[in-house]
Amino acid sequence: MRAVVLTHAHWDHFGGAPHVIRRTKAPLLLGKEDLDLYRDPSSNLAALLGPEARVPEPDRLLEPGATVEFGDVTLTVAHAPGHSPGGIILKAEGIAFTGDTIFAGAVGRTDLPGGSGTQLAETLEREILSLPDETILYPGHGPETSVERERRFNPFLA
Ligand SMILES: [Zn+2]
Repeated sequence: MRAVVLTHAHWDHFGGAPHVIRRTKAPLLLGKEDLDLYRDPSSNLAALLGPEARVPEPDRLLEPGATVEFGDVTLTVAHAPGHSPGGIILKAEGIAFTGDTIFAGAVGRTDLPGGSGTQLAETLEREILSLPDETILYPGHGPETSVERERRFNPFLA
């Protein structure tokens, strides 16, 4: 299936979506709990960072446990609040797309509207540190990393 999946509703992650959707006609998928943020340009950084373009409504809102087909891989959605209220992590055997929950050597900021340091810490524990060490993480910014690497070297997980 072809789809545009947003890991969370910050403008730097969805600003290109209208263009991609126009070209591909792919459906737009977003974590359910981020819909309010997605619709609010004053909170999702669109007003600050981007041209105030109209964004398309999501075609499907993803709840925890939902699955998204990606080639022959089935990704499962996990709710990952902290960086944003409705951020999601998409997981399959051996891989995870983490959005801005975790980066190589850092974690997502929690000072934006709807962010929560407490929730981020819970999400990291529940959704990242519970994964096998060899799981490859694909963050929303920067290079890929692994659970083992972050467990050992990420100062925010110490
Ligand atoms: Zn973000």
